[in-house]
Amino acid sequence: MLIHDMNAQECRDLLARLGVGRLACARDNQPYIIPVYFAYEPDRLYGFATIGRKIDWMRSNPLVCVEADEVRTHFEWQSVIVLGRYEEYTDTPEYKEPRMKAQSLMERRYLWWQTAYAANQVRSNRGQATPVFYCVHIEEITGHRASPDPTEIAAGFTSPSHMTE
Ligand SMILES: Cc1cc2nc3c(=O)[nH]c(=O)nc-3n(C[C@H](O)[C@H](O)[C@H](O)COP(=O)(O)OP(=O)(O)OC[C@H]3O[C@@H](n4cnc5c(N)ncnc54)[C@H](O)[C@@H]3O)c2cc1C
Repeated sequence: MLIHDMNAQECRDLLARLGVGRLACARDNQPYIIPVYFAYEPDRLYGFATIGRKIDWMRSNPLVCVEADEVRTHFEWQSVIVLGRYEEYTDTPEYKEPRMKAQSLMERRYLWWQTAYAANQVRSNRGQATPVFYCVHIEEITGHRASPDPTEIAAGFTSPSHMTE
């Protein structure tokens, strides 16, 4: 297997295409990671949630990490890691425009709001679900792409019977 660095544009293209990944945050030295949808625009990711653990944690420590990947086979995959900073778009006049921008981008995905609201069903302290628009400012981005090496191709490891789709 050969692994190559992806350039910044390739990383951005992957984020824009996938729209789903894992968001990691941390509090008191304890990491926490959850799958989330996001909308990409240069230098930021937009997300929508309802108040729960991840929002509480990101409010107390805005440093986050997002990982997104596309695995075609054991030998062919791409993975992007973002280090970034959480910013909440509160329902106040100063954030009116960023909230509208975030919503307009997220609306491209059908039922973009549903998962965030559904998450409230399993909360032990559930009351009314409070919606939260947020953004992750991208401060560092790296990407790796894997492809089969010549010996793996010659040995037939990349033929369909050896694939782990
Ligand atoms: C493909 C995908 C996309 C998603 N997109 C979004 C999104 O855009 N916005 C959004 O708000 N949510 C999304 N979710 C749901 C998300 O992963 C969380 O389950 C949800 O947001 C609740 O997280 P929370 O931190 O508020 O947890 P809380 O509701 O506060 O619950 C905390 C407790 O539940 C556990 N828990 C929470 N989530 C999960 C989980 N996914 N798996 C296992 N245990 C869990 C925690 O470990 C903790 O014990 C998505 C899930 C998937 C699979």
